[in-house]
Amino acid sequence: MIIAVDGPAGAGKSTVAKILAQKLGFLYIDTGAMYRALTLKAIEKNIDTKDTASLVQCAANSDIDLKVNKDGALKIFLDQKDVTAQIREPRITKLVSDISKVKGVREIMVALQRRLGQEKDSVLDGRDIGTVVFPEADRKFYIDAKFEERVRRRYKELKETGFNITMDSVASDLRNRDKIDSTREHSPLKKADDAIYIDTTDMKIKEVVESMLKEIKNEKSQIPACPAGRQILPNPK
Ligand code: C5P
Repeated sequence: MIIAVDGPAGAGKSTVAKILAQKLGFLYIDTGAMYRALTLKAIEKNIDTKDTASLVQCAANSDIDLKVNKDGALKIFLDQKDVTAQIREPRITKLVSDISKVKGVREIMVALQRRLGQEKDSVLDGRDIGTVVFPEADRKFYIDAKFEERVRRRYKELKETGFNITMDSVASDLRNRDKIDSTREHSPLKKADDAIYIDTTDMKIKEVVESMLKEIKNEKSQIPACPAGRQILPNPK
């Protein structure tokens, strides 16, 4: 079974996708982490983001792997080295969208993501899972939240990790990535027609996960019909 979870940065995708995978006993595949690992390698090799041929070659020669450790935490490996912490650094975040918009880079990553997802029941989170990587996914979700709330969440997360950032720099990063990710030519960020849209702005993580689990178990009655597809909205207060 494949569960696709797409949406913009800071909407809560990876948090809910991770919990969902744990609850279902599925593999969690963080596809953003894979693009981040490649960005780290491109920076280390001093490859210009406009040098698409070298970026594609770099992707083809990289060994990117995801492993779950004994405590259940997901670890990201680049050429056998654990880069889990490094790939969250702002210098990576700043460049990742420019590298992930390259067609040849995406083709290599998508092939890898499909291979991983075909090995085991999986929850994948990203930007193009429901539209491109697994258009036949068993369930598709598009997780969104208001821009200000996404900035607030990402700022809190980065501060707690120990990064010295400002709310303004987080806002400008999200605005920049939203723009590049949703307007790029190849597999832009977009809700799949058959994905369920969830606005998490006023929802608790637990509520979001429960709604998704109900949907996966075919308990669909709680979700109101809406012309643009079905939506999950917060319970009225
Ligand atoms: O999910 P995360 O914010 O870590 O993703 C980092 C970047 O990787 C995104 O801003 C986007 O440019 C790229 N990405 C992508 N396709 C995916 C996952 C991530 O283009 N499936």
